[in-house]
Amino acid sequence: MMRAILGGTFDPIHWGHLNAVKHVCELIACDQLILLPSAQPPHRSYPGASAEQRLAMAKLAAQELPNCIADNWELLQPRKSYTQLTLSQFHQRWPHDTLVFIVGEDAFAGLESWYQWQHLLDHAHIVVMRRPHSHNIFSDTLQQWLAAVETKHPEQLRDQPNGYVYLAETPAFDISATAIRNAIQTEQAWAHLVPTTVANYIQTHQLYR
Ligand code: ATP
Repeated sequence: MMRAILGGTFDPIHWGHLNAVKHVCELIACDQLILLPSAQPPHRSYPGASAEQRLAMAKLAAQELPNCIADNWELLQPRKSYTQLTLSQFHQRWPHDTLVFIVGEDAFAGLESWYQWQHLLDHAHIVVMRRPHSHNIFSDTLQQWLAAVETKHPEQLRDQPNGYVYLAETPAFDISATAIRNAIQTEQAWAHLVPTTVANYIQTHQLYR
């Protein structure tokens, strides 16, 4: 079984995440998608909604996609979220499955700052959501690493349980959580950028005001 994991702050989760990841999941034909809200994000300032609220919104959003669940593992950890440790734990949980960690191209461009980044492929493949005409620049080190591990063929992700990076061309959805939080604060239209259930949750809990 192939399980894909999308980690993120999800503060809040939005149609940009969901549409992009749906496209990628169809491309690689994965069997399950796991939305994984991160605990205190190591690379970012502290988010606006609580961990429980971000998880609740991810659970509502998961109902919008086939074979999709939200997982609270990183939120239960007493430390920051490190992808390497998370993938190692998921590998122990499902030793016979293929894991695919899905990441946005902007986040992938900063991979070298991640904890034990050169071991990320020990437990999973990485699929990068690459936006058309993107302007992300990969460092020389990252490019050299990529040359050794990249596959151009998504079918190859089934040939071995871990070890490949696949850059998936993904349609651009010009939505970010930052823009949604700003729109709520400045009373601009925002509800169409998230599933209706998530919009209702944000309104009920008066988030991001
Ligand atoms: P923020 O605006 O607060 O930085 P964000 O909307 O970028 O948040 P995150 O939760 O940090 O959301 O993103 C999780 C993952 O989803 C990251 O890998 C990010 O690159 C990717 N991502 C976010 N928005 C989009 C989008 N519109 N299209 C494709 N990928 C996205």
